[in-house]
Formats: sequence, C-alpha cells, structure tokens
Amino acid sequence: MTSEDPAVLWFRRDLRLGDHAALHDAAERTDTVLALYVLDEKLLAPSGAPRLAFMYGCLRALDEQLGGRLLVLTGDPVTIVPRVAEAIGAASVHISADTGPYGHRRDRDVADALRERGAELVETGSPYAITPGRVTKGDGDPYRVFTPFYRAWKEHGYPSPADTKKSTVDWIDPATLPAKLRGERIPDDPDLGEMRLPEPGEKAALKLWRDFLDEYLTDYDGDRDRPDRPGTTRISPYLRWGCVHPRTLLADLAGRTGSGAESLRGEIAWREFHADVLWHWPKAARKNFDTRFDAMKHDTGKEAQRLFEAWCDGRTGYPIVDAGMRQLLAEGWMHNRVRMVVASFLVKDLHLPWWWGARHFMNQLVDGDLASNQLNWQWVAGSGTDAAPYFRIFNPTTQGEKFDPNGDYVRRYVPELRSLQGKSVHQPWKRGNDAPADYPRPLVEHAQERQVSLERYGAVTGKP
Ligand code: FAD
Repeated sequence: MTSEDPAVLWFRRDLRLGDHAALHDAAERTDTVLALYVLDEKLLAPSGAPRLAFMYGCLRALDEQLGGRLLVLTGDPVTIVPRVAEAIGAASVHISADTGPYGHRRDRDVADALRERGAELVETGSPYAITPGRVTKGDGDPYRVFTPFYRAWKEHGYPSPADTKKSTVDWIDPATLPAKLRGERIPDDPDLGEMRLPEPGEKAALKLWRDFLDEYLTDYDGDRDRPDRPGTTRISPYLRWGCVHPRTLLADLAGRTGSGAESLRGEIAWREFHADVLWHWPKAARKNFDTRFDAMKHDTGKEAQRLFEAWCDGRTGYPIVDAGMRQLLAEGWMHNRVRMVVASFLVKDLHLPWWWGARHFMNQLVDGDLASNQLNWQWVAGSGTDAAPYFRIFNPTTQGEKFDPNGDYVRRYVPELRSLQGKSVHQPWKRGNDAPADYPRPLVEHAQERQVSLERYGAVTGKP
C-alpha cells in the first residue's frame, strides 16, 4: 500500500538505480520521491582531485539517469536533510546504511533531527552483501581472522539483488522546491592534468563487469597477481561509490563454477571482512589494531619527509615501487599486488608510519575506502587483524621479477626504463654506468633496511 506523502531518497555511497534496496523500499511506500545528495564538506576536505572528479562524475551519471532531477546541496546533512524533508512534507527519508564511524554517527544525528519534525529515517541495506555486524561467532563475538569469517559469511547467505526495475516512482523536480532549496550544479571537475580516470557511473560499471565475466573470469585466479595483465575486475571504484552493489556481482558469480569465480568471491568477502572489523573496532581507522605496535619506532623527521615525498612521486629507485606509485598518479588506482609492495616498502624499507601512506592513498585513490584502505595498510604493517607476520618482508626486486616477469608493467609507467629489456628492468643499477641517467639510484639498500625492521619488530614483540 502506498502513502500519499512523498519520500526522500538520500544518496550517499549508493550512486545507482539498479539493485537498490532503499529505493525498492521507498517505492513500496510511496509513488513520489525526491532524490537528494548532500556534498558534506567534512568528507570533501580530505579528498584529492582524482577522488573528487570520479565522485562528481558518478553524480552526473546518476543525475542523467534521473532525468536531471537529482537535488544537490552543500552543507551539513544534519541540518539539510530534515529541512528538505520538511519542505516537501516527506514522512520518511530512505538510506542505505553507512557503517563507517563518521557516517554512522551522522546518521544517528540526522535520525534524531528528523524525529523532532515527525519524520523517520529508514535504513534498508548497506554497501555490503551482508551488513557489517551480522556475521558473528557462536558466542556473538566478532571475527578477527578472515578464513573463519569467510566460512561463516558464506553460511549466513545474503538476499538476492533488489529488483528495482519495477520500482517506478515519480521523481520530484527540484525546480518546484522553494527557492532556498533549488539546489546547485554538480561542481566542475578539479584540474586533473594528464590523469585518466575510469568512466564514472552505473552504466560504465555494469559494462566493465560484463566484459570481465566474458573475457577474464576464467583466468582470474592465476592472473590476479599479475599487474602486467588485465586480470582483475577494476570494479573497486564502482563498489566504493555504489555504482554497483556487491550482491549483483555475487549473484552473477553464483551460477559459475571454477577457481576464478571462487577466488573472486573470496576477494569480495575481504571487503566485507574489513567493513565488519571497522564496525566492531572503529578506532582501527586511526590506531594500531594490535596495540603492541604503539611502541614501534618510526622515522618522522626531515629526512623521513624527504623519503616520503620520493615515495609519493615514484622516485625511490626500485622500479616496481615507482611503477605502482606512478600508476596511482596517472590513474588514481593501483593494482593490488603492487599496493602491497609499495606499502611494505614505505613501512619496512623506509620505516615511515603506515598512516602516512594510508592518508596519501585515501587522498588519491578513486576507490579510497576507509575500511579497506586502513585495514590493508595495517595488514601490511603487521599491526592489523589477521596481519602478515612482520618478519615476512617483501623484497621489491624479487616481487617485481616474480609478478612482472617480462618487465612490461614497469616499462608502461616508468618511461626512463623503457630502453631496458625483459626483467633486467627490475635492477637498473646492475648496468653500472649504462644505467639510465634520469632514473634515480635506490634511495635505500633493501637488505640493510630489512635488518633494521627486524630489530624494531623484535623490540616490540619480544621476538628476535
Ligand atoms: P579484484 O581483484 O577484481 O577484486 C574484486 C573486489 O574485491 C575489489 O574491487 C574489492 O572490492 C575487493 N577486494 C579485493 N582485494 C581486496 C582486499 N585486499 N581488501 C579488501 N577488498 C578487496 N581496496 C579498496 O577498495 N579501497 C581502498 O582504499 C584500498 N586500499 C588498499 C590499500 C592497500 C595498502 C592494499 C594492500 C590494498 C588496498 N585495497 C583497497 C584492496 C585492493 O587492493 C583493491 O580492492 C583492488 O586492488 C581493487 O582492484 P580490483 O577491483 O581490480 O580487484
């Protein structure tokens, strides 16, 4: 039964119309819905140009799907959302739950403010197949280790995609609202120079996904560690901004057998695991999950700052590290294997605090996501849940030779090394005076820094 009262659909990390549980729910209650997006300055401030540009692009794509009827306002959602609901006489504001620390707090405040005006905040679904907090051990405790979480997550099961094709509603034209609430243009993209970002929006997400299923899924398990090959989905920015829901992906995988589908299901579950961990331990966004690491010695002085800048610019003298950091500068994205290598290099070769690297990633990545980013950084640093043992220290040269065996990935992003053939590209210093003059010598010596790391680790954990 539908109500005469209109509703507001407040978009946040769900910039799509398909498989949208909150839209489905709103359409069950009313025929008339206002689509709202609030540009929240608290979230915009720490975002770098690529992140902002991709998000604005997703908003533009959504607005187009809505026939130009997305109301965009800038400010504090706690005041804006109730004001908009009141202006149209909405009885309910519909959202997909935000389970991150800031979003959860903000939504509680918005719900209180709405309640004071006689309206309700209705949460339906979340950006995850299973909303964080729902998969627990038998005694109700959360999981700290991925493998048992994954088993329980699969057993828990998740709903099928919401069939929003049938959720036809009349979208309220923002031009009919009082002048104060007419809305703003979606901001122009910041200057990106020569960067090339993925095409934003739901249509682009679904096309990318279908192409991946047709061409690359079968080999995913073998190819996903190869940055030189187009072996992974590259769906992460679309999942981050909600241009596609993970349930859609999982439903498509459900009908497929083989190691590719199974392995990809596991990777999607890592995203769910990290969100679950952040839900239970919100402090893990900023602090060491394993508090023993609070005593870890990091370098933070002037020299550390210089090393950090060289890392950000892709000028460390280690080709696989530099290729990764330059891929980030060129595309706002980096291959997972290389993210692990560059993160390990920052923490274990340069001895810088993991949160310096995490902040840079969050600023630059088009898929920058608090849960996945901070907890992956902590995984590499050894201070997270289920972390890589600290003594397992990536050797940047052998990682390059193993996962970019012909050197194609390095040559793609580091033009100074294009004259070097095959895997010799991973050790340019071996060429002595013939090494490319415009490529830096290694900033540090890996074997030596590995030793320093092991000593610092020993001091923290009591293990030699
Ligand atoms: P695919 O291999 O195609 O995997 C499909 C999806 O599974 C991904 O889109 C992602 O949603 C999920 N996934 C895969 N691996 C992981 C993982 N290790 N942790 C969580 N989810 C995973 N991912 C982000 O989405 N945002 C981040 O900010 C982010 N920061 C990271 C920082 C570091 C230091 C590291 C090591 C990893 C980080 N990741 C992050 C995880 C991973 O690198 C990316 O999700 C992956 O590279 C995205 O590429 P893809 O979509 O082609 O992945």
